[in-house]
Amino acid sequence: MQFNTYTAAGAKIACWLVNHPEPGASELGRVLAGYDVHDPEPTSAQARRLRPWARRLRAVFEAAEVADKAALADALLVAAHCSPRLVSHGPGLPFHLHYAPVRTGLTARVQAFTAAGLAHLIDSGHGGRLRACERDGCPTAFIDTSRNGRRRYCSIRCANQVNVARHRAQTAKPSQPKEAPTESHRTGTQTTPAPSRNTAPRPGSTVLSSRPDRT
Ligand SMILES: [Zn+2]
Ligand SMILES: [Zn+2]
Repeated sequence: MQFNTYTAAGAKIACWLVNHPEPGASELGRVLAGYDVHDPEPTSAQARRLRPWARRLRAVFEAAEVADKAALADALLVAAHCSPRLVSHGPGLPFHLHYAPVRTGLTARVQAFTAAGLAHLIDSGHGGRLRACERDGCPTAFIDTSRNGRRRYCSIRCANQVNVARHRAQTAKPSQPKEAPTESHRTGTQTTPAPSRNTAPRPGSTVLSSRPDRT
């Protein structure tokens, strides 16, 4: 599943912001530079001003129905004063869309670019691929780039944890097991460490990449 690289960049940055809702200026700058954003280095104040925006972006990923995602993304287009213009940075250089003028500042440009990125994805029929991980307690958002579009978890780790929990629940059901339960108890009650909220995926990891999913 491949999306248009440039328009998908806005959605990928949106996803990154949802998973890094309080980004430092330098890490945000590196991510924006990685997606070829014009003049990508934010000040600390600019990075801070994106925090409430990250919460609004999260709502799009968490909405259950595509119609709700569309309504939220549409409101983001308005809130970001998204106004696409065709721009070239010099004679002979390619024209491309800017969603807010460069002079509006990086915060406004990131808001417009992320709103447009989500809107483009929904417009092309892929709104249902903007997802939040279905494992209880996992806050990670992701863009489902799998072929069948039915990925439910942000990572192999979350999928495995849910599978293990489900398997335990099933094997725990028979009230009078014939075999002695010692072994399964000993191995079955080990607790898997819960993922820290601070270990959200980095850009370029499977969550953000458009490589085929492994789940
Ligand atoms: Zn440009
Ligand atoms: Zn997860």
